[in-house]
Amino acid sequence: MTWHVLGAGSLGGLWATRLARAGQPVRLILRDSSRLTAYRAAGGLSLIEDGQTHCYPIPGETAAASTPIRRLLLACKAYDAEAAVASLASRLLPNAELILLQNGLGSQATVAASVPHSRCILASSTEGAFRDGDFRVVFAGHGHTWLGDPLDATQPTWFEQLTSSGIPCEWTPDILSRLWRKLALNCAINPLSVLYDCRNGGLLEHPLEVATLCAELAALLQASGHAAAAIDLQADVQRVIRATAENYSSMQQDVSQRRRTEISYLLGQACAVAARYHTDVPHLDALQQRLRAHLTAHGLPSN
Ligand code: NAP
Repeated sequence: MTWHVLGAGSLGGLWATRLARAGQPVRLILRDSSRLTAYRAAGGLSLIEDGQTHCYPIPGETAAASTPIRRLLLACKAYDAEAAVASLASRLLPNAELILLQNGLGSQATVAASVPHSRCILASSTEGAFRDGDFRVVFAGHGHTWLGDPLDATQPTWFEQLTSSGIPCEWTPDILSRLWRKLALNCAINPLSVLYDCRNGGLLEHPLEVATLCAELAALLQASGHAAAAIDLQADVQRVIRATAENYSSMQQDVSQRRRTEISYLLGQACAVAARYHTDVPHLDALQQRLRAHLTAHGLPSN
């Protein structure tokens, strides 16, 4: 069974190279014919791990190819997910399985609604990777990936292919709780790290602001049916800030490298769900306004 991987970026590259290295059949789906030409000229996808570079000549194609897709790893950003899936929807077999690697929430529901005959498996990952050049992925942080399907708790038969390919992952019956917890951690840390333009550790100087956001996020999680994701949130946020004190958050890196952020799927999603559940989150709302204004002022998309 071929693993189609859409998105030859950081996370897609990390998954595709490990699957290919383990002998799994993998095909990469590139954005368009010019990206496919550039990919072929590069000779494959390179993984840089522990200072060693290995190039994997994984076959590439565009969404316009005609072969059917049974299993798709969707590894683009949340804001690209809907259009990316639409571009190859006609190739999906009726019982196709999609693994959605997007951070935050919102894009998964949109994608799932657009492919009602496919199974959508959601993922939440703490692995870290970045690109140091085109089709070159640096494995930057060991972590773990949780996968699950909110509509069907049955673990897929192929799941062991992931672990035997060296992808540390676990099937969970409560993936939504995992995604909400990560979203809450992101909302408490990332926007402030952008506005103060600091490493995560810089937030130790703003304990009250962080604590106020944590209280609103915990109330939102409880009101929206994700009480388990609210347990000890503030202590966990403090733990993450201390453990990653020297790191820049992904959103801070996006802004400093002038890339679009995933704000709409993180803080935007938290504020939208709060409005839906009539939960007052004045500090999260104000933070969202400040962040969107900051993005606009820096010439970046505010959505
Ligand atoms: P990334 O490095 O920017 O890679 C995204 C890739 O998707 C790019 O290669 C892009 O193509 C490709 N793409 C976008 N639209 C496409 C389309 N229609 N067809 C084909 N390819 C398309 O992003 P990432 O860091 O891997 O992040 C992916 C998701 O994983 C995000 O939601 C992120 O928050 C999440 N995540 C990332 C990490 C990490 O460490 N990187 C960790 C946890 C979660 P181009 O190269 O042509 O632009």
